[in-house]
Amino acid sequence: MNNPIPVKTDCDTDTGWLSVEQARARMCDSVKTIDGFERVALRDALNRILAEDVISPINVPPYDNSAMDGYAIRAADLASGSEVTLNVTGSSFAGTPYDGEMKSGETIRIMTGAKVPAGADTVIMQEQVQRDGDVIKISSDHKQGQNVRYIGEDIKQGGPALSSGKKIGSAEIGLLASLGIPEVTVKRKLRVAFFSTGDELRAVGEPLEDGQIYDSNRYTIYGMLSQLGVELIDMGVIPDDRNMIENAFNTAASLADAVITSGGVSVGEADYVKETLDKLGEINFWKISMKPGKPLAFGKVNNAVFIGLPGNPVSVMATFYQFALPTLQRMMGQDDVEPVIVKVPCKNMIKKRPGRTDFQRGVLMRNENGELVVDGAGMQASHILSGMSKANCFIILPAESGNIDAGTLVDIQPFYGLI
Ligand code: AMP
Ligand code: MG
Repeated sequence: MNNPIPVKTDCDTDTGWLSVEQARARMCDSVKTIDGFERVALRDALNRILAEDVISPINVPPYDNSAMDGYAIRAADLASGSEVTLNVTGSSFAGTPYDGEMKSGETIRIMTGAKVPAGADTVIMQEQVQRDGDVIKISSDHKQGQNVRYIGEDIKQGGPALSSGKKIGSAEIGLLASLGIPEVTVKRKLRVAFFSTGDELRAVGEPLEDGQIYDSNRYTIYGMLSQLGVELIDMGVIPDDRNMIENAFNTAASLADAVITSGGVSVGEADYVKETLDKLGEINFWKISMKPGKPLAFGKVNNAVFIGLPGNPVSVMATFYQFALPTLQRMMGQDDVEPVIVKVPCKNMIKKRPGRTDFQRGVLMRNENGELVVDGAGMQASHILSGMSKANCFIILPAESGNIDAGTLVDIQPFYGLI
């Protein structure tokens, strides 16, 4: 069962910092999967989370059929051990089966996907047969059952096809179609409100004045949330004004299952954000032992889960992927949210200071020998958003490690498969 969100425990390690794993586990374990589901047409189920176990109404394949273009035979007819001659007495095409029973000494011309006729148990590829008019000659060197795809060998009638919690991708939507299922029950969409805070932020389309920057976090967050398939409530930029911030949090929490903000969670900064959150909800302000992305706020505002990401654009994406994504997936009721991490040698030396787990931006590529290697994606500072665009993976370096020699195996998390 889900535990309530721990209140004001802050950090519980000796150093006062939370590890990435600790923070992720706390967040995922403290949220509940939303109730509520809807029945949708098959195509509308793409990227949604299945809210029912699907039991197959039919066998797939629905009948024994041929895996090859060739000839259906009875394996017993090959028992002599020498070359055998059989009479071609009919044909079975995909969609137009042979409706008689095949007798000993006979063979039926058969196409890929066509039903194996009654009496036959084996298919010989046409390349392994000599045909002469209405007879074929074949060697006896064949196995019973070869080239036959059996009824129900993919999915059995009455058996489990897909489980509740499965994200419906292209394979799943096709699988459901193969069962003839026109609609399914999926979880309702998670509602996520998000906004940026900060007096320095301008919206795109507005001119920049001295000391101002464009609000890019709301766009990366929009992108990641859109790919995740949630209902978006974009609340814009909220200026550094106590009342407006308080109103924004209240409105967001009343509209959404989860509220995501960026910025204003570092130590000693934008105190009124922290102050407002302290007043409104049960929020932990954590220091995470990761780079980029040290500060993170997590808790509840009224009934909504609140995730306060740091302000720097790369930190936003790194912490979204490591913490917000699995937490939201848990709320959406999705299974299989373990991050995919693989080991690859690094092409060049990587600079690192011991202390925090690094999520450096990397480029997974092939070296001159065609082997997969990873290299840094240029400048690694947390405001260099172009590095996220150049990169196709995170290079995850353990907290205690210092500089990494070229050729060392490092953990990488490909962006492919992230959202
Ligand atoms: P903060 O955590 O609010 O101190 O922000 C850290 C850094 O991120 C500062 O340089 C901010 O200007 C920048 N920043 C905060 N919010 C945004 C945003 N929405 N878009 C781009 N940069 C931002
Ligand atoms: Mg700020």
